Amino acid sequence: MIEYLYTLEFAEKMDNMDPLGKYRDQFYFPKHSDGKDAVYLCGNSLGLQPKKAKSYIEEVLDDWKELGVKGHFEARRPFTTYHEELGEKMAAVVGAKKEEVVVMNSLTVNLHLMMVSFYRPTQKRYKILIEKFAFPSDQYAVKSQIEFHGLNIDQSLIELEPRPGEVTLQTDDILKLIEEEGDSIALIMLGGLNYYTGQAFDMARITAAGHEKGCTVGFDLAHGAGNLPLQLHNWNVDFAVWCTYKYINSGPGGVAGCFVHKRHINRKDLPRFAGWWGHDKATRFLMDDTFVPIQTAEGWQLSNETVISMAALRASLDIFNEAGMEQIVTKSRLITGYLEFLIHGLKSDDIDIITPNEPHERGAQLSIRMINNNRSLFDKISERGVIADWREPDVIRIAPAPLYNSFKDVYRFVEILKEALSQA
Ligand SMILES: *Cc1c(COP(=O)(O)O)cnc(C)c1O
Repeated sequence: MIEYLYTLEFAEKMDNMDPLGKYRDQFYFPKHSDGKDAVYLCGNSLGLQPKKAKSYIEEVLDDWKELGVKGHFEARRPFTTYHEELGEKMAAVVGAKKEEVVVMNSLTVNLHLMMVSFYRPTQKRYKILIEKFAFPSDQYAVKSQIEFHGLNIDQSLIELEPRPGEVTLQTDDILKLIEEEGDSIALIMLGGLNYYTGQAFDMARITAAGHEKGCTVGFDLAHGAGNLPLQLHNWNVDFAVWCTYKYINSGPGGVAGCFVHKRHINRKDLPRFAGWWGHDKATRFLMDDTFVPIQTAEGWQLSNETVISMAALRASLDIFNEAGMEQIVTKSRLITGYLEFLIHGLKSDDIDIITPNEPHERGAQLSIRMINNNRSLFDKISERGVIADWREPDVIRIAPAPLYNSFKDVYRFVEILKEALSQA
């Protein structure tokens, strides 16, 4: 255990010892109005741009320019197969086998595609279990799927709520609910890490408990991928979906990720919404009208993917693969712990951290609740060069992204927060 100190020297010492410190220089930091780098702590919302993204995108533009349609097969990285290497690199980030992961579409689209295959309500088993305070897009997606099957939302949706007076969920409560209601639950669909509270769920135990009761278990890893230590294959998760523009730095609207467990890939009984890009590669261009799915997660692809967007993702995945999730998680715990230590050091009655304090129950994000819903504190830190985000009704989310944030960033942030609190 490292003994944290509330000094600039300590933060600098941590930065000097940081094996990931060298990656900071591989990203662009936005500037504050004073011309200095902003204190960017918003990688949970939009990750920073890897410097290599531009040259990777230019490579695609140049090959398209020089080769036109021939670029599909003759580009330096042929457009038709551009996604394959990315799926493999992404698999390492989420703890999956390479045939279980594909990069395609966007997150909510993938969630729908997965529910088409994995939400198969029957007379007895038709409910979906979700968090009451899940990200709205997930709420819309599951409710619209329930209606798509002609079912009633009130009777078919079970929402997990914290105990009265509490903000985060207790694993025991989740497991108990699965035990009690599991027989009627078709699908358990939770966020791996709640975007608002920063709470990470015990996905291994939830998956095991769900399977015990015969439920299908999927996760939305928008805030989990590239952030938490994931073992999707070993945990036996049925499917997962995530975006890549948050912790994985692929740029606004970047192409998303999708995981289908190996044991489902060759199942003939799973329906899916099919498209030509999911068709067997050997015969795809023969233009036959019978769909033969690729025997990997790629079999769920619909369309040929946006290569320009994938080029930006490639720049980021290079860094992820070089650094490795193990080192990233190690630093994440150290730097998030440091942020927590410094905030506690302020001993302020005006703020409160709602994110769990156990390192395995969170990632690189602390959600700071303003007592009395005081948004002015957020405005004050923003004026002073902090880029973070405000979530209604009363939370500032601070995310020290381990690939590019420094301990000094965290120190600077807390000094700014302290000053703002003293003027509140
Ligand atoms: C960010 C986020 C989304 C966004 O969905 P897109 O389809 O990428 O626009 C959805 N769900 C969760 C849980 C998120 O955190």
